[in-house]
Amino acid sequence: MSRRVAVIGGGISGIACAGALAAGGVPVRVFDRGHRIGGRLAAQTLRGTGTAYDGRVVDVGAAYFTARDDRFVEVVDGLIERAVVRPWTDTFHVADTRGIIGPKLGPMRYATPRGLRSVVEDLAGLLPDDLVDIRHPIDVPPIRREGDRIIVADEDYAAVAVCVPDPQAMPLLADDSVADARALLDDGPAWEPVMSMTAVYDDVCWPEFDGMFVNDEAVLTFVADDGRRRGDDAPVLVAHSSATLAAGHLTEPLGAAPAMLASLSSVLRPTGDPSWFTVKRWTHARPLSARTDEFGLVERIGLAGDAWAGGPRTESAWLSGQALGSHLAREVVR
Ligand SMILES: Cc1cc2nc3c(=O)[nH]c(=O)nc-3n(C[C@H](O)[C@H](O)[C@H](O)COP(=O)(O)OP(=O)(O)OC[C@H]3O[C@@H](n4cnc5c(N)ncnc54)[C@H](O)[C@@H]3O)c2cc1C
Repeated sequence: MSRRVAVIGGGISGIACAGALAAGGVPVRVFDRGHRIGGRLAAQTLRGTGTAYDGRVVDVGAAYFTARDDRFVEVVDGLIERAVVRPWTDTFHVADTRGIIGPKLGPMRYATPRGLRSVVEDLAGLLPDDLVDIRHPIDVPPIRREGDRIIVADEDYAAVAVCVPDPQAMPLLADDSVADARALLDDGPAWEPVMSMTAVYDDVCWPEFDGMFVNDEAVLTFVADDGRRRGDDAPVLVAHSSATLAAGHLTEPLGAAPAMLASLSSVLRPTGDPSWFTVKRWTHARPLSARTDEFGLVERIGLAGDAWAGGPRTESAWLSGQALGSHLAREVVR
């Protein structure tokens, strides 16, 4: 039987899983349905804005990440050495609907000069070509078992790592032959939607800040100065909506823009209007909580991602994928 393992999902958890499998000498095939890998570490290139910023990359998914566990700190140190990541700030501001309340010290937040997707692409680029094969865009159909065989996209694998958000794992595990793996998702956390609005201005016309938590459950939760985050000082803001606002606009994301722009104005009081804006929908942006187990596994089908390993955070997604990959290499496909 082939020792090859299928990893479904080319986000940070899937790439961490593939890396751990390859480190154990196991051949891996990673599938992602995106045109680029990276998942929710997503960067969008501005186009057709009519501003000087066409071609510029904006972080429209995760806003930043933190690193506490020594294993992930080591990965981040490597990313910093390769100039993929830079420490951004340990000071965010806090605001409510009436305006900015003040600064707040927290953990170091890491950001990237070329967009957070570059983290996943860099880590994927370090994987050995002779063991890891990354295929995309391929939307993987439901996984099946036939006797001892596990079938993914019409091929047999020794094991499968499903490294996608729970709501995206459900259709992959819809077949009755994998009901045991689907049951691992029972009683999982709820996932909340977020609208991510990018607004391009003529110049920086707001008070200096890096990131801002907004206590406005009705409309906004967070705003980033994307120019300071990326380090090029471009006059670009990225605002994340509340789950409540997002839930009301899932079929027409741009409909969330008027409320988000109005809230941005009352919080930041910019002296100009944006020259261009857009809204990206995240139907399953993040889980409300995460399981403490590092991953799920039943009969050679594993589950990993930011709803495991104590998340929900980018760091947990990496830790979860890494732990599942190491376990599969050590215990399952030896
Ligand atoms: C708006 C927003 C803000 C966030 N803010 C932060 C933050 O500030 N700090 C932080 O640490 N984290 C933040 N996060 C969370 C962070 O982005 C995630 O924790 C992390 O990216 C999860 O990685 P993952 O690999 O587990 O999942 P994903 O990145 O979702 O990767 C899953 C991949 O699976 C692929 N896929 C799914 N189904 C299939 C299929 N059937 N076939 C093939 N491929 C498939 C998808 O295309 C995707 O690329 C935020 C996320 C969002 C959306």
